[in-house]
Order: sequence, then C-alpha cells, then structure tokens
Amino acid sequence: MKIILSILFCMSLQMCSQVKQPEKSTSMDNPTTKNNPYYSRNDRTKLNVPNSEWKKILPAEVYAIAREADTERPGTGKYNVYDELGEYYCIVCGNHLFRSDAKFSSTCGWPSFFEADKEGTAYNRDSTFGMERTEVVCKRCDSHLGHVFNDGPPPTGTRYCMNSVSLEFVGDSEIAKK
Ligand SMILES: [Zn+2]
Repeated sequence: MKIILSILFCMSLQMCSQVKQPEKSTSMDNPTTKNNPYYSRNDRTKLNVPNSEWKKILPAEVYAIAREADTERPGTGKYNVYDELGEYYCIVCGNHLFRSDAKFSSTCGWPSFFEADKEGTAYNRDSTFGMERTEVVCKRCDSHLGHVFNDGPPPTGTRYCMNSVSLEFVGDSEIAKK
C-alpha cells in the first residue's frame, strides 16, 4: 500500500510539473535586444557607438548585415512573406522604422514597404558593386537596413527593399498590452 501511495505521489508531482507552462515570450525577451544597453523604442537620441562595441552586443548575422551592409539571401528572411499588423523597429537600437500598413507583397525576395517613418530612416549614396543605389539606414544608430528604389506601388511609387535581419516586428496586440 505504501509503495502504491508513493507511486501515486510521484505521478502527481510529475503531472504538476507538466502543467506548468513556460512564460510567454515577448519581443523584450528577444536575445538580440535583451542584453543591448542602447536598445530603446522611445529614445530617438542619435547614437554614436563604434562597431567594435556593436560586435560585442549583436549576434554575428545581425552584425554582418546591420553594421557591414551585408545582404540576406533573397526569400530567406522571416518578414519576407509576413502580413501581421504592427510596427517594425530597428533590431539594433529599437528605433521605429515602418508600419505594417505600408508593407506590400513584392516578388523581389525581401520585405518591401512603400513608405518609411521619416523620423526613423536616413539615406546614403551607395556606389558599390558597380551600381548606383540609395542605401537606407536607421537614423538613430546608422545601421544598414537595405536600399530604396523608385519602382514601388502607389501611392508613393517607392520600394523600400529591406533585410528582415535588420528589423524587429512588434504586433499591435503586444503594443496594446504595454
Ligand atoms: Zn537603429
């Protein structure tokens, strides 16, 4: 009898431990942003952080694209085919960049927007690879986001061709909770 009771006790303990759910993950738990002292979704003060410092903070893939202007392979980005409602922020510093309303289905292989947050983005001339392009960077931290072209849809005719790796999406439902 004692043995049966102890078996039952062990089983109930095990069941309890199975019932316990892991805490819901939020974007503030994002490993890229959690340990980043410069990350803020409210502070738009210009950052002047050297790449030697960013290299210590950012994952290698984010560093290569955001700080060394690398490009993710077309069709591989997590936001390439993605139509949730919400806001897109800079993965490096938390600066607001795009609203999902301005995102459109593009066949180019990267997430594309017809309009950017003018307070969030800045532009540089890019003559690399024998092409004349306009690079889009984060206005706060100067991270590389992608390029902008004039072959987009109405109403702007502009196509912001972005790297998913440089972006962090936060859904409207999550923003409403804060
Ligand atoms: Zn930034």
